[in-house]
Amino acid sequence: MPSSIHFEIIESESTFLHPGKGFKPTVEKFEVRIDPLTGRTGHFSHFGAIKPQRLDLDSYSKPEVKGFCPFCKENRDGKTPKFIEEVAPEGRFVKDEAFLIPNLFPYDIYSGVVVMTDDHVVPLGELSEKRLTDVFSLGIEFLKKIKSIDASLPYHLMTWNYMPPSGGGLVHPHQQYFATQNPGNQFMDELKASEQFYRTNQLDYWSELIQEEQKIGKRYIGSIESSRWLSSFVSLGILGELMCIFPDVFCIDDFGNTHVNDLVAGLLKVFRYYGASGIYSFNASLFFGPEGQRFFPSHLRIVARTFLNMRDYAPDLNFFQALLSEPVCVMMPEDFCKEVREYF
Ligand SMILES: [Zn+2]
Repeated sequence: MPSSIHFEIIESESTFLHPGKGFKPTVEKFEVRIDPLTGRTGHFSHFGAIKPQRLDLDSYSKPEVKGFCPFCKENRDGKTPKFIEEVAPEGRFVKDEAFLIPNLFPYDIYSGVVVMTDDHVVPLGELSEKRLTDVFSLGIEFLKKIKSIDASLPYHLMTWNYMPPSGGGLVHPHQQYFATQNPGNQFMDELKASEQFYRTNQLDYWSELIQEEQKIGKRYIGSIESSRWLSSFVSLGILGELMCIFPDVFCIDDFGNTHVNDLVAGLLKVFRYYGASGIYSFNASLFFGPEGQRFFPSHLRIVARTFLNMRDYAPDLNFFQALLSEPVCVMMPEDFCKEVREYF
């Protein structure tokens, strides 16, 4: 039976007279890909033009750079907020180093931040299995708690900016966890399209995607127990996007300790790849759909971030993402998959 998923690529090229080649005609190729689920497009061009920049992590600890950090151990108790009693009778959720508090700048009614470590500057290699497991366990516990308090907020999310190129306002490692009716355009476009696909094909798109990608073999990275890891056909990140799907998790209540362990095991591999590739910063998100559906399983996306250069700290996002809502990627997903697979 032919697959219900179609991977559509528009290949094209541009010809110009190159100044570095005696003004001889030169052809540059580019691609536009159409996301098989949402129909949203993404550009692939400028191949190899963006190199991840090295961050001077030691400089972040210097007092004149560090400034005041509310997440540091000495400030935490007095300078970070506490939850109201119905959310957390003790005011905060704590698990060893992981310290979950309300967001001073909430995204929604119940909006938490996990301070991930006692240390202020933590390189990727020091985001250990123990630290990550504690952090994710605590964050998931918080999401389950707020779901039990307020069922009117159907969608649950973890979001993560790591290090300044990602837009993270504080170097001290932290993640956000919140429940909402308004999880953003990406989430809602995926959710609506997944429901539509389910109605049309009587199939869960995401399980189909995994099967199809396994068959094609060019973007499938591997599985770790309950999790399936792949390189996205259309990348939201400029340096490639990794996705991890949990096919048996349809809402936050389904996400147990084994899922946390599998997520952490995969992330540790991704971080080893990042470390070897000179990547110091990323954005990640973990989506949980509403209770009672079987077409929108939980999935994580993670994209590397960098400055374009360290001279004027140009960000790696531009008018494409800011105003055209169009992702651009300088690496082909199939090449990216090959590189990451080495670490799985
Ligand atoms: Zn700090």
